[in-house]
Amino acid sequence: MHAGSGPIRIAWDTWRAERGGGAAIGRLQQARLAELVEFARRASPYYRRLYREVPDTITDPRQLPPAAKRELMEHFDEWVTDPHITLAKLKSELLSDPSKLGLLYRGKYLVATTSGTTGEPAVLVHDRTSWMVVSVVVRIRERRTLIRAGEIVAILRRGLRGAALVAGGGHFAGVVMTEYARRRSPLIARRLRVFSVLRPLPELVAELNGFKPTVLYGYPSAMLQLAGEQKTGHLRIRPVLAISSGESLSDHGRAEIEAVLGCRVTERYLSSEVPALTSRCREGSFHVNSDWFLVEPVDQNHQPVPAGVTSHTVLVTNLANRVQPFIRYDLGDRIEMAVDPCPCGSPFPVVRVEGRAGEALAFQTADGREATVLPLALVTVVEETAGVRRFQAIRTGPSSLTVRLETWPDADPDAVRASVRERLAGFLATQGCDAVDVQFAEELPRPDRSGKFRQVWSA
Ligand SMILES: [Zn+2]
Repeated sequence: MHAGSGPIRIAWDTWRAERGGGAAIGRLQQARLAELVEFARRASPYYRRLYREVPDTITDPRQLPPAAKRELMEHFDEWVTDPHITLAKLKSELLSDPSKLGLLYRGKYLVATTSGTTGEPAVLVHDRTSWMVVSVVVRIRERRTLIRAGEIVAILRRGLRGAALVAGGGHFAGVVMTEYARRRSPLIARRLRVFSVLRPLPELVAELNGFKPTVLYGYPSAMLQLAGEQKTGHLRIRPVLAISSGESLSDHGRAEIEAVLGCRVTERYLSSEVPALTSRCREGSFHVNSDWFLVEPVDQNHQPVPAGVTSHTVLVTNLANRVQPFIRYDLGDRIEMAVDPCPCGSPFPVVRVEGRAGEALAFQTADGREATVLPLALVTVVEETAGVRRFQAIRTGPSSLTVRLETWPDADPDAVRASVRERLAGFLATQGCDAVDVQFAEELPRPDRSGKFRQVWSA
């Protein structure tokens, strides 16, 4: 943990920043960035090399070259600032072992894996300060908006039972956070549970009927699928609140979940690399927590894009995490900064987010019915196959799926294809889609004409 960063200090600084207004936030941001850059240069060989032409004193993030996920992951051991951490050790000592989900690595680090929108898997390490900032920011900035007073009353009356609708089976941030909380207390362990969206839908429905969740959180595409099950009467749950994250949610989708499940739906915009990036206000806007996170909307050439214009991608900086510095990190999301201040009066800038679409793929079953597959579930199945570097899956017909596959240089492409095919067939069968024919394309995964890298879609 770095100096002056205990929980009380973090809470006090976070509270004060909100009161201090835009100028105070700007000063805090600049001081924290300068400190982080100085630390990264000292403790991370990767940043020392990347910043060798950069002046000693940093007053503006644009003095620093951006960092891409692919390069950072290729130099993982030089990127992290604790020499005890290597990618090989993380994989062999933690990530390969599902029984260690949510366990602190070396007693102090939370580790998660992610794919994100650029389709390149990453391994993320957060130190204590990083997680403390997340919990402090949520408690302070979302104290009135994440859960409303009436909802707290309803949850207290009926009991808190949180169901995480995420992809299980891997060390993904949603699973890691839930399991970490469960390990800390037997009481929490009974009240929070992961319901993996990779499991067959009838099993998921039966377990949710037994658990009777009062809060749902996770992928909105999974919530939509559950709304369908509630309509047919298979699912019978009465949640108080649904917290959607990981994918974007359309107005239509939100209305559908609210009407069928009978609860309010709220959204979060964050990412495993920058886990408290924004907080939603009472007006429904996403405010960047810019005292802890920098957000720079940029074009293809990483040049700044003005407010009111949708960016090509976004560079984010996590000012809280020292063990694995994310500084001007290309997150891949298209965003837009709002021109006008938010009516709520918050000094934090408002951001609008485009994309991370989670449109379900519809396939025909062997007996001619229709079954849907969640894109994020499909992504997980392919990505968790050893040897897969990047891929795209395209639904090319009611019973056909085409996969573009890029393997790691040390992997045997034929063997990787065979295991992807086998795992996909197994997964599709659990979803009732036994008849789907999986084909591999000759071409490698590539961005679409707008430059956006999509992972799963319907042609
Ligand atoms: Zn606002």
